[in-house]
Amino acid sequence: GQKEPTDLNALVEEYLRLAYSGFRAKHKDFFCTLDTAYGQCLEKVEVVPQELGRVLLNLFNNAFYAVRQKQLLGLMEYEPKVAASTATQHGKVEIRVWDNGTGIPERVQSKVFQPFFTTKPTGQGTGLGLSLSFDIVTKGHGGELAVASEEGEWTAFTVTLPSVPVAK
Ligand code: ADP
Ligand code: MG
Repeated sequence: GQKEPTDLNALVEEYLRLAYSGFRAKHKDFFCTLDTAYGQCLEKVEVVPQELGRVLLNLFNNAFYAVRQKQLLGLMEYEPKVAASTATQHGKVEIRVWDNGTGIPERVQSKVFQPFFTTKPTGQGTGLGLSLSFDIVTKGHGGELAVASEEGEWTAFTVTLPSVPVAK
């Protein structure tokens, strides 16, 4: 794929909806609050839309899975939430995918980008989503993909792209 000027906010919105409707088609009882916060001047960011789309789909699918797993624990007053945001920070572009799902233990956080690392049952995860995403972001776009999490509470993945958005 070729890099092209892309409306990053529209791309994030598109893949958030796609992931949510896909997930709800598989799990009819599933509902989740979606929070979005879109930054300005992200209309023309140089990315390969299909590849960054795959990254977003992976991150959103993981987020929905994590909140559903927590929901299945039957905790009182738990409200599944997935949040997506974009921003420009110090001339860089930042996409953040946050969820209040199961979280990732600290000792596990360093392994999630390794190929075939998965904590999901056979058939539910290949362990390739994040390693592929890492390659797309770092090698494909010269960016960074980072994880932060508090076990049992929340997880956030941050995609940082070096390209300065071109003003319209
Ligand atoms: P897969 O989804 O097939 O397991 P991934 O590479 O997408 O493979 O993710 C690897 C592992 O990282 C998951 O199995 C899970 O343990 C952990 N993980 C990724 N995203 C999240 C998340 N949002 N919340 C909790 N754990 C996560
Ligand atoms: Mg995955």
